[in-house]
Amino acid sequence: MKLLEDKILQSGRAINEDILKVDSFINHQVDVNLMIEIGKEFAEYFKNEPITKVATIESSGISPAIMTAMALNVPMLILKKQPSKVLNDNLYQTVVTSFTKGNNYELTLSANQISENDHVLIIDDFLANGETATGAIRLIRMAHATVAGLGILIEKSFQPGREKLDAAGINVYSLARIKKMGAGFIEFIN
Ligand code: 5GP
Repeated sequence: MKLLEDKILQSGRAINEDILKVDSFINHQVDVNLMIEIGKEFAEYFKNEPITKVATIESSGISPAIMTAMALNVPMLILKKQPSKVLNDNLYQTVVTSFTKGNNYELTLSANQISENDHVLIIDDFLANGETATGAIRLIRMAHATVAGLGILIEKSFQPGREKLDAAGINVYSLARIKKMGAGFIEFIN
């Protein structure tokens, strides 16, 4: 998606060869108009799937996921990294390793919010090692629901996530695919 690639070139910052900072338009401040266009783009790409819900992982996936859910006119599910004290029964849970923080956390979904009839489109900001996405897929499958696909804003194609998900037969649509990056440069896959 040219709009997103241009924004990454203009405002993103590769702090090293592995981590891209996008705090000014995705992770801290949110470019709302860009998110609206991203939502429309995902809705158009996945329009032939019988999607009943859009799911994301808190917190950076929420803004693109809500715009996608709006464009598809379906509810949005937030997969929790920290279950609240009142959310304590009937839960699906799976352990995920965080790429940026290097620690483990328990991804949680209440069984009350999903059913086996759901077709769920997962949206997230980044795809790196694919741990978050595969964790979200495990949770949705624990509920016997169907994974309709995975929409990613920024895929770092030089990391193993994309290959893992392709091998698992998941329909992945990444709006910007980074081939290589480092101090002062970012190269996309065409
Ligand atoms: P994965 O689970 O695929 O290894 O990593 C994906 C998650 O790690 C994303 O949800 C995102 O929050 C975070 N992440 C991975 N790489 C980056 C990066 O380069 N920049 C930022 N800001 N977050 C990242």
